[in-house]
Amino acid sequence: MFAPSHIELSKSAFKQNVEFLKDYVGQDVVFSSVIKGNAYGHGIEQFVPLAESCGIRHFSVFSSDEAKRAHDAKTDDGSHIMIMGMIENSEIKWAIEQDVSFYIFENDRLKAAIQHAKDLGMPARIHLHLETGMNRTGLENGEIEQTVKLIKDNINHLQVDGICTHYAGAESVSNHVRVTRQIENFKKLSKKLIDLGIEPRHLHTACSAAALNYPETTMDMVRIGIAQYGFWPNRETYMKFVKNHSDIEKEHKDPLRRVMEWKSVVMSTKNVEAGEFIGYGNTYQTSRKQKIATVPIGYSHGFGRNLTNAGIVLIKGRRAGVAGLVNMNLLTIDVTDIPGVKKGDEVVIIGKQGDQEMTVSSFSEMTNFLNYEVLVRIPSQLPRYLVE
Ligand SMILES: *Cc1c(COP(=O)(O)O)cnc(C)c1O
Repeated sequence: MFAPSHIELSKSAFKQNVEFLKDYVGQDVVFSSVIKGNAYGHGIEQFVPLAESCGIRHFSVFSSDEAKRAHDAKTDDGSHIMIMGMIENSEIKWAIEQDVSFYIFENDRLKAAIQHAKDLGMPARIHLHLETGMNRTGLENGEIEQTVKLIKDNINHLQVDGICTHYAGAESVSNHVRVTRQIENFKKLSKKLIDLGIEPRHLHTACSAAALNYPETTMDMVRIGIAQYGFWPNRETYMKFVKNHSDIEKEHKDPLRRVMEWKSVVMSTKNVEAGEFIGYGNTYQTSRKQKIATVPIGYSHGFGRNLTNAGIVLIKGRRAGVAGLVNMNLLTIDVTDIPGVKKGDEVVIIGKQGDQEMTVSSFSEMTNFLNYEVLVRIPSQLPRYLVE
């Protein structure tokens, strides 16, 4: 079936990112691939097998519905899924049965986990999520003793996979004081748990930015999201990296490669006389004889209306601007100065063509979103294909 546009996922790009990140954090460190938000728009169903084919065996999701999708998508019995956020107590039974681990940030959930584990005669695999200063979720110093007692009294029904926390903005030096305080708090609290007799398999705290900016947060496991897809958490983190690795600066080589490309085709072309309006209304008037190409992408596919007369796509290796309103299913593009554009030509919305590139960040500068937000908004119904 023909789809107006599609996403391509590059295996070689992902492989390069993982190799770079594993070199950086250490080969012995467990690499958990964070695939919440539909694998940051890459598509859980397509991304999980791709990651497995590059040696990844640990996946982190936000919620139990994502865990179910990841569970159905995985192709290797050795792959493990961890839920970092939302799981209803009623879903815990499923998680235990499928050997899916999950965060505990309240003793209430711990009690539910113990009860289900007893009923099933199978251990619940848990991660103790500590409050260190994010003030969102997390076990607090005052409730830890009760947590420890619950665990020790029921140790036959539990396996403590990890002790963990999350940082409140490790990508920006403006949060330095807060993040370093969190690192200290984590050290203190995790030591307290261990001194009280808890034996976690792993200590994990680092997201991409923490792993890159605060190496001590790596411990023996990391949870990497944005960087594995080929994006720096923000510009500041990239600049800091380049500064500290002058060899790479000399080559001007970004060690991360974008995994995703978003492509469509020219649907039709038309020559329009000078002084005519294009599409709905009168936002765009031709200033001369112009050639207009239509592309079957619109705001229903995630190409925002705010890119009217502002967005850019690549055609024949050249940059071409949106001319007129972004429609629900359609764009009109000015291709007057690009010779030979015809029906069926490839159009790149995000990705490379010739020596031009439309990055998500250039797209997001136009739309004023973070990389993260632009990525997760890419519609899940677009077909996604793996390419080498
Ligand atoms: C999203 C998330 C990560 C990954 O963050 P990136 O910045 O994408 O690397 C790690 N840990 C937790 C708890 C998260 O929610």
